[in-house]
Amino acid sequence: MMNFYMPAKVFAGEYAVRDHMKDALKGFRGPVLLVTGASSAKKSGALDDVLSALRDAGLESRIYDGIRENPLLTSCMEAGQLAHDAGCDLIIGIGGGSPMDAAKSIAIFAAYPGLSEADFYKKAWATPLPVIAVGTTSGTGSEVTAVSVVTDSTGRKHSINDPRLFPVASFGDPRYTMSMPLPVTLSTGADAIAHSMESFFSRKANEFSRAAAIRGIRLAYAPMKKAAAGEALTLADRSDLYEASILGGLAISVTGTAYPHNVGYFLTEHCNVPHGFACAVFLPSLMEHIRKEAPETADAFYSALDISEADMRALIVSTLPEEKLGLSEEDIENELPRWENNGTVKNTLGTVTQDYIRGLLKSV
Ligand SMILES: [Zn+2]
Repeated sequence: MMNFYMPAKVFAGEYAVRDHMKDALKGFRGPVLLVTGASSAKKSGALDDVLSALRDAGLESRIYDGIRENPLLTSCMEAGQLAHDAGCDLIIGIGGGSPMDAAKSIAIFAAYPGLSEADFYKKAWATPLPVIAVGTTSGTGSEVTAVSVVTDSTGRKHSINDPRLFPVASFGDPRYTMSMPLPVTLSTGADAIAHSMESFFSRKANEFSRAAAIRGIRLAYAPMKKAAAGEALTLADRSDLYEASILGGLAISVTGTAYPHNVGYFLTEHCNVPHGFACAVFLPSLMEHIRKEAPETADAFYSALDISEADMRALIVSTLPEEKLGLSEEDIENELPRWENNGTVKNTLGTVTQDYIRGLLKSV
């Protein structure tokens, strides 16, 4: 079986916004709500490129720049209200995973202002505003997924996944990622590798997702090795990383992620660990788990990659910051029920028990 659905038009490459945004804007009358974080949209040059495309198309815009890392659902509600009041007919998210994910949730609140948090997650809504995603980091893959991860009112990272949340078009220009500082390059790159690896080791993997996952990791491997060694990345390296991120996104758009992502959310919520590192820290244990529980899949993975298991593990470890988190036993016990019936955890090949997760959390 090889089922997949990928409705987003993707434009990835140098000058993608300049060359193709005009087509994507056809049919919209504006105003457009631009959703950004504090600085990367500006610093990367992406915001200027989008503004210039909007000017050429004769579309007005408003900017909501209140999105921060691990965006809050309340910020999405606020921005949605703003878009609604301004009569916007399009949301453009510019930045890393946070602004792009937030844009998808904002698109729901823009169409249904005043929607409650419960109704938002229950999907008591029909048609969100269309979203265009413009990526400035290389990791999230949000450009090609129907997932929006936002922090709910209890402080948990809580994702909503629905085909109506696919961006109508996505843009990525590796030039935008040149301004990423090294820790961001490493964390977002680790996220891209996590997406591909978790997807490959998911029960839902098929020919398409596996091919995307393998190509994604192969493209990310050399530039990530350079970055982990502190070497500067060229535009060609950045371009490979960006494409790796899109391929990882395509892979998880079919399969979803596996347990490292879901357990990783907890590290981000409790210890503020950047998303990519928070997930990648569990990849070496995922590799061990698969080696033990599904050895044929492990063999197929490393032989398709043409990278040894040891080299793969070494790369992942070299990208992670050396820091011991020391989560308290109490925090771990309180949190464990969260993974009891979790779809992402169940998706992982083999059996992932509560005891196993307890051990993982104690080890970080
Ligand atoms: Zn991720």
